Amino acid sequence: MKAAYIHSERFLSYRFGKEHPFNPLRLELARSLMTDMGLLFPQEIILPRPASERLLRTVHSPQYVNIVKRLGQGEKMDASLFGLGTEDNPVFPDMHRAGSLVVGATIRACAAVARGLVLHAVNLAGGLHHAHRACASGFCIYNDISVGIRLLRRHYRMRVAYVDLDAHHGDGVQWEFYDDPDVLTLSIHENGRYLFPGSGGIHELGEGPGLGFSVNVPVEPFTDDESWIWCFDSVVPRVLSSFRPDIIVLQFGCDAHYLDPLSHLSLTSTAFIHAARSIHQLSHRLCAGRLVVLGGGGYDVFSVVPRIWTLLWAELSDRIPTPDTPPDWRARWRGISPLPLPVRLRDENTPKCQVPVFEVNRLTVARLLDSLHWL
Ligand SMILES: [Zn+2]
Repeated sequence: MKAAYIHSERFLSYRFGKEHPFNPLRLELARSLMTDMGLLFPQEIILPRPASERLLRTVHSPQYVNIVKRLGQGEKMDASLFGLGTEDNPVFPDMHRAGSLVVGATIRACAAVARGLVLHAVNLAGGLHHAHRACASGFCIYNDISVGIRLLRRHYRMRVAYVDLDAHHGDGVQWEFYDDPDVLTLSIHENGRYLFPGSGGIHELGEGPGLGFSVNVPVEPFTDDESWIWCFDSVVPRVLSSFRPDIIVLQFGCDAHYLDPLSHLSLTSTAFIHAARSIHQLSHRLCAGRLVVLGGGGYDVFSVVPRIWTLLWAELSDRIPTPDTPPDWRARWRGISPLPLPVRLRDENTPKCQVPVFEVNRLTVARLLDSLHWL
């Protein structure tokens, strides 16, 4: 088997509430679209187990894990110092268990690839890149990515290249490995002046022995396919080739899409297909195909997320999707979708950027590459 897909119906328990933008139903929409299109088969699906507390503590403080547990069991306390019980991260029942399952799924994906059982493994419930050591942030309780990378470092002694394409900066992972020269973090995101969490400037380059191995490409609001692909192509292949990773971990949030309600970027399926293909090829060229792919942001759960993640899976599993989504799939979800479900798998409208961002982004990339002396 070449690629594995980690999935559990219990991912649906990671849910902050009805009105909250993070809706785990997107995982069912995506998986059912892949299945209905004949792109995903039962033998490719691996069930995850919740991560142990011992594993969680390789990244999170014991006190924080304890607070998450107690809140999820209904204990009342003010946990805003830990980022919990806030508007972004409200408390929900059994949140420790739900968060541990997401981490366990990423651990499963990392271990399957590191041990050579599969070349690529995908956990779209993962990619919770904002969680910190002792603080929830941006809908992320436990940082499955950091725990996964920690395992790859300690247990498998691998050099890890982490690439984060979410519209938001991958801050939690960056700070966790900020001084580690064996973990490269590379994030392309909307400039922090305009979007949460605010960090991710080009001068955040790492510290101590890790100096130079934190790479940030903040792009301007309204950046479209053309400029984003140019930034991606100017930085990602060059940085990854020079770093020579043993494995690539990719966060494939799709909230940079032009229809996404939470960011101001203007990408279409063209940019996402380009990025998936490029990283897929780089993994084969640089590290024998070892590639772990995680989800992340994506808040248009009916029109955008299922399509973009299906295109991602098609790329990784070397399958060519038909142009249209199946009528059965559209019928299945019609009852709960506010708009008719999309007929075309790829975007047909390509918003052209009306703001002159290309020059600004070009300058950002030039300044960044100038400060990466190890290239
Ligand atoms: Zn995001």
